[in-house]
Amino acid sequence: MLALITGAAKGIGRAITLQLANDGFNVAINYAHSEEAAKSLKDEVTALGVKAEIFRADVSVQEEAAKMFADVKAAFGENVSVLVNNAGITRDTLLMRMKAEDWLAVINTNLNAAFYCSQLAIKDMSKARYGRIISISSVVGLIGNAGQCNYSASKAGIIGLTKSIAREYAARGITANAIAPGFIDTGMTDILKPEVKDSILKSIPAGRIGNPEEVARAVSFFASDKSAYITGQVLAVDGGMTMV
Ligand code: NAP
Repeated sequence: MLALITGAAKGIGRAITLQLANDGFNVAINYAHSEEAAKSLKDEVTALGVKAEIFRADVSVQEEAAKMFADVKAAFGENVSVLVNNAGITRDTLLMRMKAEDWLAVINTNLNAAFYCSQLAIKDMSKARYGRIISISSVVGLIGNAGQCNYSASKAGIIGLTKSIAREYAARGITANAIAPGFIDTGMTDILKPEVKDSILKSIPAGRIGNPEEVARAVSFFASDKSAYITGQVLAVDGGMTMV
């Protein structure tokens, strides 16, 4: 079976790709800028004995996402059974300082891309009466965050998109679930100032930052038949940060 992971070359996407390859999936590796990282990931994955190809596409542009899906189908000769909407960016600043372009860039990349890719994937999944759509949200999509109104809105939007897809397609054997990571050690969080990191750490009951592999293992579960009766759910992978 084939899994397509958006923004796969680095961070959480890279860990997801390696995990799904270890689970036996062929993997379509999407990247926008990180070509070298995508190529070396392809080599690493191929060594595991599954098929892997890389696809450059800015998934926030509908035409590029559509071309990527067509190229994936041509390259693998099979349909995407598992879609992981992982590509994401931040453009943080307080509400009053946020420019419309920062709002739009984040909504386009984090939310609109997930809509384009889910719509592109679901036609074949629907025909096959099987599919898994897994979207990477965030704890801030659940609880908000000062300085991240654009990012939080995009991640809350992912949850609404996921639940609606789940309701529309549950009867066709397609599940849609979201994962809400907390504070995970990647390039996205590397850039935070030490004092910001310290204050976030204090809010994590587990007392430590998470790693990309811990998110990838949750994706593995949602991609597998072990989760066949679970749809429309949001699983926080956050060391207890947002428990209610
Ligand atoms: P990262 O290391 O910065 O990776 C982001 C990935 O997204 C990169 O591979 C990047 O690819 C890709 N990307 C960005 N814009 C893209 C576009 N237009 N088209 C295709 N790919 C694009 O960050 P990360 O922490 O792994 O984040 C992965 C996901 O987890 C994101 O959705 C993020 O919001 C979410 N998340 C992260 C954390 C955390 O603490 N790290 C917490 C909650 C949620 P290129 O380099 O090729 O552009």
